Amino acid sequence: MDPPLQEVASDAALPARVDVAVIGGGIIGAAAAYSLARRGAAVALLEKGRIGAEQSSRNWGWCRQQNRDRRELPLIGHSMRLWEGLAAETGADLGFRRTGLLYVTRSAEELATWEAWVAMAATFQTGSRMLSAAEARAMAPASGGDWIGGVHSPRDGRAEPAFAAPVLAEAARRAGASVHQDCAVRGLDLIGGRVGGVITERGRIAAGTVLCAGGAWASMFCRRHGIALPQAGVRSTIFITAPAPEVTPGGLVTPDLIIGRRLDGGYTVAALNRARLEITPQGLRYARAFLPTFRARRASLTVGIGRSAIAGPEAIHGRWSFSSPSPFERHRVFAPPPDMAIVAPAMARLGGAFPALRGAVVARAWGGWIDSMPDGIPVISTVERLPGLFLATGFSGHGFGIGPGAGDLAAAMILGRTPAVDPAPFRYGRLVDGSDLGRPGMM
Ligand SMILES: Cc1cc2nc3c(=O)[nH]c(=O)nc-3n(C[C@H](O)[C@H](O)[C@H](O)COP(=O)(O)OP(=O)(O)OC[C@H]3O[C@@H](n4cnc5c(N)ncnc54)[C@H](O)[C@@H]3O)c2cc1C
Repeated sequence: MDPPLQEVASDAALPARVDVAVIGGGIIGAAAAYSLARRGAAVALLEKGRIGAEQSSRNWGWCRQQNRDRRELPLIGHSMRLWEGLAAETGADLGFRRTGLLYVTRSAEELATWEAWVAMAATFQTGSRMLSAAEARAMAPASGGDWIGGVHSPRDGRAEPAFAAPVLAEAARRAGASVHQDCAVRGLDLIGGRVGGVITERGRIAAGTVLCAGGAWASMFCRRHGIALPQAGVRSTIFITAPAPEVTPGGLVTPDLIIGRRLDGGYTVAALNRARLEITPQGLRYARAFLPTFRARRASLTVGIGRSAIAGPEAIHGRWSFSSPSPFERHRVFAPPPDMAIVAPAMARLGGAFPALRGAVVARAWGGWIDSMPDGIPVISTVERLPGLFLATGFSGHGFGIGPGAGDLAAAMILGRTPAVDPAPFRYGRLVDGSDLGRPGMM
């Protein structure tokens, strides 16, 4: 089953020329197109399927500063400020609410990790604070909730994945961008060693700059042009309930469950420790780069082989021609199947922890493919060897909340404006020049 998703209108005719062609209509591409168009650039937003239909509508919707990698904290701060103004700017409710995120635990080790994070983040004004056992039990009064403490981030929250990318794409359109769905970009048009445009399934668009915000497909796209982009995905399952009584206003992480209260009064539920690492040709290609992350996250992964080995963004596709259908057209929307085996046990845990939710009904379940970088932070960057190409991808399971900020950062860099935050941590070169990537942050 697919998640709910608001429809976006497409423009019929492709422009002959734009300043910036944006590949990918997820939250990143839509936010970048919106920022670019508002700053006066001529933009085409090109999406092989539907706006928001891949990761950007399949996620939990958390807009989270808590437990972020230090390198992302300035950008998430910028993004949270942008979220705050988007409803007024666009005239549409994106569901953004600072309803808070709450983490509780029975593990002293986990508590110490959160404490270290809160101390590290003190200068970033995230508003997070540690909770005593009594506070944690009062705020998350679950049966069996013998919490020894927790952490609360009252200024974090959630937005609605069904609306966010579509609202941004529509707003970009009103600001002058054109939006093209069912319009895959087969490749870059290179002229004299630099980007001269894109070749889409409906024809060429001349563009001095191309921003690739292709999510899980970005590595394959880059490889076709000889650019290595170590990127790997995991399959994750999530489900939502129909409206049910309130047991928490925002997001809650316990050792047994992750739930988030939705705008419609239902809950988004995820089972802990059940992301699935599927072995794929691309995964094997970049296995060395991902080994430290794999070791750090091993306990939260199951490993196996699935259809993604032969179909999807990490399968082998060779050097496709730009004059016939490309792999992108063969997968308009990459929708990995949910692991239904997790749903009934998670519902039983939910009802066990919160008797008020015993009668809750599962409304939909779906799968999502989370694209990651070896160090767990994205690339928002030029690519030195190919002038005119920018990348904004690899958001490593937390690109929704940071999306408006990341799109805005990419737009500022493309237009040569002073960026709101330092883009250095997101440099592409770090992945290929032997830089020490450090340890991936918490998820
Ligand atoms: C189950 C799950 C839970 C998550 N929970 C959270 C959360 O709570 N908070 C959070 O911040 N993040 C979360 N994330 C991560 C977040 O969803 C992603 O980081 C974010 O949506 C990435 O946005 P994107 O625009 O880069 O990618 P996508 O949304 O995947 O968009 C990329 C788009 O590019 C298009 N495309 C690719 N190649 C081409 C091409 N050649 N031509 C045209 N179009 C192309 C694709 O069709 C796709 O629509 C979660 C993800 C999942 C799957």
